[in-house]
Amino acid sequence: MAKPKAKPARAGVPATQAQHIAASRDPVATRMAKLGLRTDDDYALHLPLRYVDLTQVVPIASARHGDEVQIEGVVKRQEISGRGRRVLSVELEDASGRLSLRLFHFYPSQLKQLEVGRRVRAYGAVKSGLFGIEMVHPTVKAAGPAVGLPQRLTPIYPSTAGVSQTALRVAVGEALERVRWPDPLPADQREALGLMPMREAVELLHAPLPREPRAALEERTHPAWRTVIFDELLAQQLSLRESRLRRSALRADPLTIGSRAAALLDRLPFKLTGAQQRVWREIAADLGRAEPMNRLLQGDVGSGKTVIAALAALQAVGSGYQVALMAPTEILAEQHHRKLIQWIDPSMARVAWLAGSMKEPDKRAVRQAVAEGQVDLLIGTHALIQDSVVFPSLGLAIVDEQHRFGVAQRLALRGALQNSDRSAHQLMMSATPIPRTLAMSYYADLDVSVIDELPPGRKPVVTKLINASRRDQVVDAIRAALAEGRQIYWVCPLIEESEALDLQNAIDAHAQLAAELPDWPVGLVHGRLAPAEKAAVMSAFSDGELRVLVATTVIEVGVDVPNASLMIIEHAERFGLAQLHQLRGRVGRGTADSVCVLLFKPPLSDTARERLRIIFESADGFEIARRDLLLRGPGELLGARQSGLPLLRYADLERDAELVETARGWAERMLRDGSPLARPVIDRWLAGRQAFAQA
Ligand code: ADP
Ligand code: MG
Repeated sequence: MAKPKAKPARAGVPATQAQHIAASRDPVATRMAKLGLRTDDDYALHLPLRYVDLTQVVPIASARHGDEVQIEGVVKRQEISGRGRRVLSVELEDASGRLSLRLFHFYPSQLKQLEVGRRVRAYGAVKSGLFGIEMVHPTVKAAGPAVGLPQRLTPIYPSTAGVSQTALRVAVGEALERVRWPDPLPADQREALGLMPMREAVELLHAPLPREPRAALEERTHPAWRTVIFDELLAQQLSLRESRLRRSALRADPLTIGSRAAALLDRLPFKLTGAQQRVWREIAADLGRAEPMNRLLQGDVGSGKTVIAALAALQAVGSGYQVALMAPTEILAEQHHRKLIQWIDPSMARVAWLAGSMKEPDKRAVRQAVAEGQVDLLIGTHALIQDSVVFPSLGLAIVDEQHRFGVAQRLALRGALQNSDRSAHQLMMSATPIPRTLAMSYYADLDVSVIDELPPGRKPVVTKLINASRRDQVVDAIRAALAEGRQIYWVCPLIEESEALDLQNAIDAHAQLAAELPDWPVGLVHGRLAPAEKAAVMSAFSDGELRVLVATTVIEVGVDVPNASLMIIEHAERFGLAQLHQLRGRVGRGTADSVCVLLFKPPLSDTARERLRIIFESADGFEIARRDLLLRGPGELLGARQSGLPLLRYADLERDAELVETARGWAERMLRDGSPLARPVIDRWLAGRQAFAQA
């Protein structure tokens, strides 16, 4: 029997460097580490997927097709049949009847174990086969009066190749003896919530008595499960709040002078919506504090976040500080630059642009101007933080579409903003709405402002689902729209596996459309164009010189051309919901009636069909995100798969929403009271993983 060798020393203590090194040399420990198992806490929290009941033996006569049971009997007959592939059949008899065991592959040891006359126990699924009732590939054990039955259900753990259930059971059992877990809540409060002491709950889950309700165990609604889930959520909330407290211990320079922002408000061609005014008040107040702002501005596509960013930037600049504005792509950054220089003239702020694609001497010149304080507002991609731009007086960093930045970039940004006990203010913007429970659990250390209103006069976008076989009719509709003076986006299918195919698709689509619309200028933009070329195409489209723009998903975020009122998305079934919503948000920005045509090509998978139904039925980003969450789970929505963010292992934000709220309240209280019970909770769940959890 394999035994894990690298035994961590004490409960609650993360594996040391030495243990990690040991783990990498010891194959068993390496395999265990693959399962995330390093410390006693890890083992103790490695909970079973399901159970088998070996506590009872049922009479053979009562075994029914479909049951999973344990029987005990004496082998009456053993037979190997079949040519080539041999089958072992064994007849087992107890006082009530007979049943055959069938093994399609077997070892000599099994022949011996199942010799005629032996008494054995067999566990497995019962089937009624051709020759009566049988069990295929049961688990078999020697039996006899001396071999007692276990008292508890036998756990089946998540495992990996080379790690046996027995090895896991032994290791978990040993770890459980060592862990000492003080309970975070006082007994009366815990009981009021219907929760158990944590250790008791975990012990129960590893080895429940047969009387525990099986369904509640399997559906994870048993009080023991709720206890574990609460504990996990509490750890997460504590860790996020801790980082928030750490952050609030940082100082920031208050940015209080609002005259330039007020001047921008005066010269804007529109009035802020009520929601914009509200979020602007919230942000302006944050900027005025001596504590760094850490605020997420959420607003659906087209809700007008850019102007809020401009106002915040001007308040910082007016107060004598520099501002960095970052976007995930050059197209988007360039779009911000164009928009902001329209609104902001050099007397209000000196605005500069820095892109990875610029020539090195030009970049150097911009960096130098920034370092000398000649630039007030620098706009660019996240290259700004990686390109070692030195800001002598950075007061505010604005990050657009922040969810598209990876964890590493967010950590780098935090590093760039902080220096010893001071930090610049930070404003993040996102059009991907995060459902409430998710926002609460993943962004507990962020303040959130929401623009929940679109600027007036926006017409809802009409969404049409059209089979790709009717492409001709769509092209006719394009001609009609062009004749009315409108502009059109044609979005090419996404081919994730191959950038080359992606490009070829866009080139083909462009050639075909250009041929079909000989009287109109049709442009093409895709990810492989040099940034300067991209920018040139985009600005030709913005200025109306190009009437149709064929694009890969580079236009996905943030592009703003109000005269574009028709969008065709080819192979819409290949896009994700958030992407479709973002894309559709590119139209409906002007006064014309807007249409988004989703061309799809059957046959559709169930999920693709469901996605198209959702996007067709709903225009509300929050509703779409909620249904997306149901369809995909929270990890993907947060981009966690590529970021390595430790997902909640047992909690389910939909199912356990009310526990999220409770955990949040308790986390607040425990940290406020400086409870010594907080640390052990965080450690048992998150030791060694916190930097990521908080990024
Ligand atoms: P997003 O929130 O998606 O970034 P933008 O900031 O690009 O949205 O705004 C979308 C469009 O709406 C822009 O053309 C912007 O100038 C315009 N806009 C923003 N606020 C208002 C407003 N209050 N009234 C009218 N138009 C507005
Ligand atoms: Mg935007």
